[in-house]
Amino acid sequence: TLTVETAIKWLHFVNEEIQANKEYLTDLDQAIGDGDHGLNMARGFQEVSLKLNTANYNDLASLFKDVGMTLLSKVGGASGPLYGTAFMRLSMALKDKSKATQSEFSEGLQAALNGLKMRGKAQLGDKTMIDVWEPVVEFLKNHEQVTGKQLADLAKEKMEATKDIEAKKGRAAYLGKRSIGHLDPGAVSSYLLFSSLSRTFS
Ligand code: ADP
Ligand code: MG
Ligand code: MG
Repeated sequence: TLTVETAIKWLHFVNEEIQANKEYLTDLDQAIGDGDHGLNMARGFQEVSLKLNTANYNDLASLFKDVGMTLLSKVGGASGPLYGTAFMRLSMALKDKSKATQSEFSEGLQAALNGLKMRGKAQLGDKTMIDVWEPVVEFLKNHEQVTGKQLADLAKEKMEATKDIEAKKGRAAYLGKRSIGHLDPGAVSSYLLFSSLSRTFS
């Protein structure tokens, strides 16, 4: 079950991981993009953390809505609207819920993924954050008792697999085959999102 308390913990973990990996994400984006992914994510999740520290939430929907709105308004580039949309969709899917079972939460993440795909028009294999999101959401939907390790390992494997493929969406797509051999920055930040979630699993 995901409670308001666990969700807040998750997002604070995400912020910690993003701040700790800010330069790494920027370096990755320097190689195949414009070098701002670390900055974009660090700014956004810093604001998310601040917001969560100053507001009170009775339900998951209002919490995730604030996360989505914060990311939409504070993060530029492609990733802000994408992560922002994902959290807005998650919020809508969990309307009025103060807690969510794993299956409700997985359905919420599926709605978030649908929003991501609609917004960015990327498919699995395009070397984007979708390459981490889609298999992770499938796995959570299809397995009842997922352990933190299973979740983190899967997200890591899918993140690493973006190295060997050619980008078809986002700035990296301009490089064509030259994008091969580099990890996708957004896949790495999505890995951090899910590995942080895995830390809240018992
Ligand atoms: P920008 O490319 O505008 O500078 P960021 O550097 O913050 O934005 O984010 C880049 C990441 O966003 C990419 O590594 C990729 O994972 C993701 N991304 C870019 N375009 C798309 C898209 N159309 N669909 C899904 N994800 C995308
Ligand atoms: Mg960038
Ligand atoms: Mg940019």
